[in-house]
Amino acid sequence: MSKSVSTRGGMSRKPNLDSVRAAGHDTLRLVNSRILLSILSDRQPISRAELAKVSGLNKATVSMITGELLRDRYLIEDDGGGRTTPIGGKPPTPLRLNPLRHGLFGLDVRADETILALADFNSRIVARRSFETGADARSFLGEIGREVKRLREEHAEFIDAAGVGVSLPGPVNSQAGRFLASVVLPWREVPVVEWLEESSGLPVTIDNSARCAALAEIWHGKALAQARNLLYVGVSAGLACGVVIDGALYRGGNNVAGQFGHVMIDLNGPECRCGQRGCWDLYASDKATVARYQQLRGAQGRRAPSMRKLVELVESGDPAATEAVSETARYLGIGITGLINGLDPDVVVVGGEITRAWGLVEPLIRAETAKSVLAPREQPVAIRRSSFDVRPSLKGALTLVLNNLLSVPYVG
Ligand SMILES: [Zn+2]
Repeated sequence: MSKSVSTRGGMSRKPNLDSVRAAGHDTLRLVNSRILLSILSDRQPISRAELAKVSGLNKATVSMITGELLRDRYLIEDDGGGRTTPIGGKPPTPLRLNPLRHGLFGLDVRADETILALADFNSRIVARRSFETGADARSFLGEIGREVKRLREEHAEFIDAAGVGVSLPGPVNSQAGRFLASVVLPWREVPVVEWLEESSGLPVTIDNSARCAALAEIWHGKALAQARNLLYVGVSAGLACGVVIDGALYRGGNNVAGQFGHVMIDLNGPECRCGQRGCWDLYASDKATVARYQQLRGAQGRRAPSMRKLVELVESGDPAATEAVSETARYLGIGITGLINGLDPDVVVVGGEITRAWGLVEPLIRAETAKSVLAPREQPVAIRRSSFDVRPSLKGALTLVLNNLLSVPYVG
């Protein structure tokens, strides 16, 4: 066996004998063409010779696969305007993804505002619509589906539309296509995939906002290109986490993994809606931060500021806001330390309004994680804020569709 298919030291898994998929010729072709598309997506423009070098495939195989991809209009040749090499020969023609091959739809559902975006195959957003999120899921998803159809008509330049990725604000069973429940939205057991496929006429993939954001970081986070194992901690009204293990989202046995916000950090803490006491969520969410600020000011019961406003107060040097956010950062650090010890990620990414005060928050998180000396590490785990200033979950919704197109299927 060649070095590239060695199964020593990871990169291998027990075959799933309930639904075994042996690697036939078609599978190998699919795997190899997706590997080339992913390399292209990351490094374009790139020559066939370079593709062969990076992928480890021989030049003849690369030529054959790229020939097929050109025929199917996945690629375009970047002839650079007919340049010649210094010795007068024709330079190798680099390849690019054809941005018009697939239109990708992303839908980011939040409590107040929902955004629908259409992006090209390079994930560049070409259209964007905003909606007030409806309390009646069925009619709301009907409205979204009609808008998807309208956008497809307006953007007839795309060869086809690959599907709709949906980010949702609460636990999701992505396999069953259902949104389960949310504390911020009156939707319960909503068959989002079924209803939106019906209204849009496109395949739909759903996940919760934290898992979508984690996926976006793995595919698009510039600083994290080498990361294979990633923990995303989304800080909003509650805490939501997404875990990527070896490049794939970890969804768990019942598809609801990532609820680390309900790990208990204080046995004698206040009661939580989940039935336990002292959950991490009760100390590190935006809700907790705002409540702490109100308490510090002796202003309980009065109108609470939004998290965005609180962060502005931090920037203007307000002592109560600074203390409230600092305390949250320390609690974030306590929880993240436990997760680093449990999961050993390459990187931890924090998202949410609180990261606008990153200069204050990051050193406090890092100070907590530095207290734990469990695993010997050559260097501390990287802790970063989200790569996306605007709505990482929207980027993640679009990435769900891209992931369906470019990720390499499991074999076995
Ligand atoms: Zn809880």
